[in-house]
Amino acid sequence: MAVQVATDFRMFIDGQAVESASGRWIEVRDPASGRLVGRVPDGAPADVDRAVAAARAAFRDGRWSSLWLPDRVAVLNRLADLVEAHAADLAELETRQTGTALKLRKDSDLPAAVDQLRFFATAARHLEGKAAAEYSGSHTSLIRREPIGVVGQVAPWNYPILMAIWKIGPALAAGNSVVFKPATATPLTAIRLAELAKEAGLPDGVFNVVTGRGDSVGAAIAGHPDVDLVSLTGDSATGQKIQALAAGNLKRVHLELGGKAPFVVYDDADLEAAARGATAGGFVNAGQDCTAATRVYVQAGIYDAFLGRLTELVEGIRVGDPFAAETDMGSLISQAQLERVDGFVQRARQAGARIVTGGGPARVAGFEAGAFYRPTIVADAAQDSEIVQQEVFGPVLTVLRFDTEEEVLARANDVRYGLASSVWTRDVYRAMRAARALNFGAVWVNDHLPLTPEMPHGGFKQSGFGKDLSDYSFEEYTQVKHVMIDLDADAEKSWHYTIFGDPKAE
Ligand code: NAD
Repeated sequence: MAVQVATDFRMFIDGQAVESASGRWIEVRDPASGRLVGRVPDGAPADVDRAVAAARAAFRDGRWSSLWLPDRVAVLNRLADLVEAHAADLAELETRQTGTALKLRKDSDLPAAVDQLRFFATAARHLEGKAAAEYSGSHTSLIRREPIGVVGQVAPWNYPILMAIWKIGPALAAGNSVVFKPATATPLTAIRLAELAKEAGLPDGVFNVVTGRGDSVGAAIAGHPDVDLVSLTGDSATGQKIQALAAGNLKRVHLELGGKAPFVVYDDADLEAAARGATAGGFVNAGQDCTAATRVYVQAGIYDAFLGRLTELVEGIRVGDPFAAETDMGSLISQAQLERVDGFVQRARQAGARIVTGGGPARVAGFEAGAFYRPTIVADAAQDSEIVQQEVFGPVLTVLRFDTEEEVLARANDVRYGLASSVWTRDVYRAMRAARALNFGAVWVNDHLPLTPEMPHGGFKQSGFGKDLSDYSFEEYTQVKHVMIDLDADAEKSWHYTIFGDPKAE
């Protein structure tokens, strides 16, 4: 599967590569060079109808959901093998459509995607739950965990293939059929994934990819009367829209939304480890990461030393050609995103914050059209200021000073988001108190960012609800059925008289 430049990609419905009913196309451009990477169909609600019909037909006849479990597992494992075999091409394509450094895609995203897919492949093999038993005294009760049906999934642009795996992995493992919408700007690796799934033996109609825009394709999926669950990874404002649209048929909703992670450094922390952790945590994927460290709270006693070391490290981040081996950080996803990020930084400056380093676009020779931004540190911002409260989603760290434990835990929680957080200390009691007090779906101690497929990822508060990764995400894509079996075989039960007739004679 060689990566072609400026080719036409098609969406994938019922096992076929197809164009849109709209007849229109969307250009996918490399945001680092501005060059055309390819075109995809500009999907319309009619395409969503087609994909949902295909997914429903596949679910109804059980070609996937009723497949012998070892065969289902084998298909998903084959898909993982194919993704691994094509990892180099997929990483290249991912880099072209996102502009971020190749080393992140090649050495982190793709190996993680393969590993996570292998985890999900076998998730249906070790179901757990309440034991079957005679809870009523005269029946055996048992639990079945069943697929939900047709699942609609809407994904963001920051980690296109990884987010696709987080969504389709558990949904397919549980036996559902999927209609997947990649982000408008980054649809290419999801299309490749659907092609590889067919090659792996996934039956037609089980995994459909509809490309296009959020307000047409995404909204059509969220509002579709024959979609049983809609899952979004995206902005909190998009989550509100999707939840409202989903109300039409009361479909289930799974939302992985924005974040504004606190990174709390106590004065007993390993300063070098914390400064390195903040650099990695803040600038991963050019800061376009929902779990990125964005609010670095540093205790007064080490504040100056920490900020000095952090500044050195951040100024050492090499911004440049995403494909160059020495590049740490590529471009942002678009010029519009760059302007958005810069708007936050300039408004912070106007509001009295200090730009310690960075604070504007980066110039990269040979990439004059690229959306590159300088790694930026903002200090002295107020807790209630926009840069501390809102998600910037770019290479910008805000560093804040604190005095007491009580104060920092309150300030760390003082945002509308609740996705991820970290605490840096050598004091196990302090760490455990923070782990309890931080109102976030994840708390790292002396690290920031690592994930593992066995453990859940998901938000509190306006970061959404429902989990990705782990058996918890598998459960999101299943529903629980209670089967209750009479043991007595009496036609007249002792309680029937409460509805008709008289008590049964003893
Ligand atoms: P976005 O909300 O703009 O778009 C996400 C997806 O929703 C895209 O496919 C988009 O086309 C679609 N969409 C947009 N408007 C829609 C509408 N009205 N109806 C239906 N669908 C619509 O988000 P983005 O800019 O692609 O991604 C960045 C956001 O995603 C950030 O807020 C980030 O924090 C969040 N994110 C969260 C997680 C997580 O796990 N919690 C992971 C990655 C990204």
